[in-house]
Amino acid sequence: MSEGRSSRLPGFFRLSPAERLAAVARFAGLDPAALAALASPDGLPQSVASNMSENVVGRFGFPLSFATNFRVNGVDYVVPMAIEEPSVVAASSFAARLLRGGEGIVAESTAPVMTGQIQFPEAPAEGVLEAALERGTEELRRTLDANHPRLVAAGGGFRGAEVRRLPGPDGRVMAVVHIYVDVRDAMGANAVNSMAEAAAPLLERWSGARVGLRILSNLPLRRRVKVTGRVKLGATRGTSQMREDEARRIVEASLFAEADTFRAVTANKGIMNGIDATLLATGQDFRAVEAGAHAFAARGGRYTALSQYRIEDGHLVGRMELPLSLGTVGGVTKVHPAVRANFRILGVEDAQRFGEVVAAVGLAQNLAATRALASEGIQRGHMSLHARNVAMRIGATSEEVPQVVAEMLAQSRTDEGIAREVLERLRG
Ligand code: NAD
Repeated sequence: MSEGRSSRLPGFFRLSPAERLAAVARFAGLDPAALAALASPDGLPQSVASNMSENVVGRFGFPLSFATNFRVNGVDYVVPMAIEEPSVVAASSFAARLLRGGEGIVAESTAPVMTGQIQFPEAPAEGVLEAALERGTEELRRTLDANHPRLVAAGGGFRGAEVRRLPGPDGRVMAVVHIYVDVRDAMGANAVNSMAEAAAPLLERWSGARVGLRILSNLPLRRRVKVTGRVKLGATRGTSQMREDEARRIVEASLFAEADTFRAVTANKGIMNGIDATLLATGQDFRAVEAGAHAFAARGGRYTALSQYRIEDGHLVGRMELPLSLGTVGGVTKVHPAVRANFRILGVEDAQRFGEVVAAVGLAQNLAATRALASEGIQRGHMSLHARNVAMRIGATSEEVPQVVAEMLAQSRTDEGIAREVLERLRG
């Protein structure tokens, strides 16, 4: 954990990659050797990669960056992000700085309870499954928990079940039993899937009805994180405050996303830019989180924005809630060397706290993008990063890139033609 340490790291963006790694190692109180996996081209040995998937031929690199300035529930974090899209890391760090004032980002979360589904393609008579569950819940708990001693020892296990009846598109009625499982620090898919499979024969016996699918739901409605961020309003625009007119435009942008699905999906994509980058760097199942987040955004019957901004008591206040199924154990968390190193830097072992940091990154990214959109527009901020990509694409060396970019921006052009022209001129 990094209590008492500051994630501010001024001038971090000006350092070389090796200097940045050393600064992160100092922040986390680690020997840079412990972080060697991060400096290697992909942080993943071939022998490990070969066992992770099938038909493996190699590894696939992504830029690994760190976002600075994060403070969540009074604790500072330097956050690993693996993402190819320019400006996400810079934007997250910038907004995290805006949100550092006062108590920083405040997060609350539920216990890590996941949902498993057991389908009955032809529902038994109403009340049959309900009565079976009422009589059998204790037996169900004993049977399911008995197969997961490590999960139970960690404080998790079966937490209850309920019945839903679903009208099928064919006019018949299905039934579904939901089982709820506290998966503690695991993402929980394997634990819940095996519990759903173990529950099926008992439910079949008790109800006389045939079971269909037995599978985890990727909409973990009971495993949620709520984050709130406040930015002080002042007379000037700065790194720790914003002007009221700027905040009002952010509120207008928020109302647009809350009212309109076309806008909401793009705003939510911005949130996921921050979240997915952190999930990728920490070996999480980002597909599961994406699926759950978008389903949650549509839970009221209409897809809407995951975040809302309002002006309250001299502050711009941003709020966001979403389900997050993350693990600090299981999956590849202990297998992938770079993932292990990133968790050491984050300093979180508890999946609930990890979820709070991940949600904070989503909110910060969303605030930065909305602020840019509501003021100068998104393209200006993107332009220099885009110019850098174009300069690299046409073969500028790392020494030449800054000069090529400066000239491209001076001419307000980011196409390959101007980049080539500038590079040729530079090389005489
Ligand atoms: P897992 O089975 O690898 O590890 C979890 C296990 O670790 C627990 O069951 C428990 O036995 C043990 N454990 C030890 N200490 C623990 C602690 N403190 N808290 C909780 N458990 C502890 O992992 P998982 O989380 O069950 O499954 C995650 C993997 O399943 C991911 O790789 C995911 O991609 C994959 N998956 C996802 C889906 C889906 O999302 N629909 C479906 C199938 C598989």
